Amino acid sequence: MTKKKMEIIYYKNFFPDWVISGTTTRKFGDVSIRNPAGRKKLEKLLKIKHLACLNQTHSAVIKKVGTKLIPDEADQGDGLWTRERKTGLLIKTADCLPILIADTKAKIIMGLHVGRRNLFCGIINRGLETLLKEKSSLMNLKVFLGPFIEKKCYPTDLETEVRNQLKKYGISNGQVKSSGECTYCLTNKYFSYRRGDSERMGTFIYIDSRLRGNDRQQV
Ligand SMILES: [Zn+2]
Repeated sequence: MTKKKMEIIYYKNFFPDWVISGTTTRKFGDVSIRNPAGRKKLEKLLKIKHLACLNQTHSAVIKKVGTKLIPDEADQGDGLWTRERKTGLLIKTADCLPILIADTKAKIIMGLHVGRRNLFCGIINRGLETLLKEKSSLMNLKVFLGPFIEKKCYPTDLETEVRNQLKKYGISNGQVKSSGECTYCLTNKYFSYRRGDSERMGTFIYIDSRLRGNDRQQV
């Protein structure tokens, strides 16, 4: 990674090449529900037709994204999944945990918005049950945890709880990777709700229609 401040951090070397994923930084600006222009800017930058998103409420509600069924700020929920290639998934956070999931064989992707409240009311279960219904094999899943407020700065250890819940489904630690970045600590890089920011970062995942992504910057 260069020292120059970047607007988007891309995650590579974890998901297969056909999965493009990343997180916007403070430099990119706000992608919260109050600023739909932020999402439009990101769609343009990624050269993707749509980024589906939700009015996130810390629920366990998960929505499907289809060609003609693209949830946006008017729809409530905290999880999105799709097989579509032209529509990405966008999770908005500032301290909460954005989780990106890809079934590397079935080519299904999912994004979850996870905070303390919905972590303990079944968002992970609901996500995995949804994937199982879609004939996903949990052994083929890769799970990425984007930047969030880590346990040294917050009373709840979100990551350990997530990993424990995944383990109950047989998803091993080797299938799970964390960005290792704390939103509260990295004040110049990310927004942090607990530090008083009202803006949100956008963590996204989409299936590259060209099934390649070599021209992207690496983390
Ligand atoms: Zn921290």
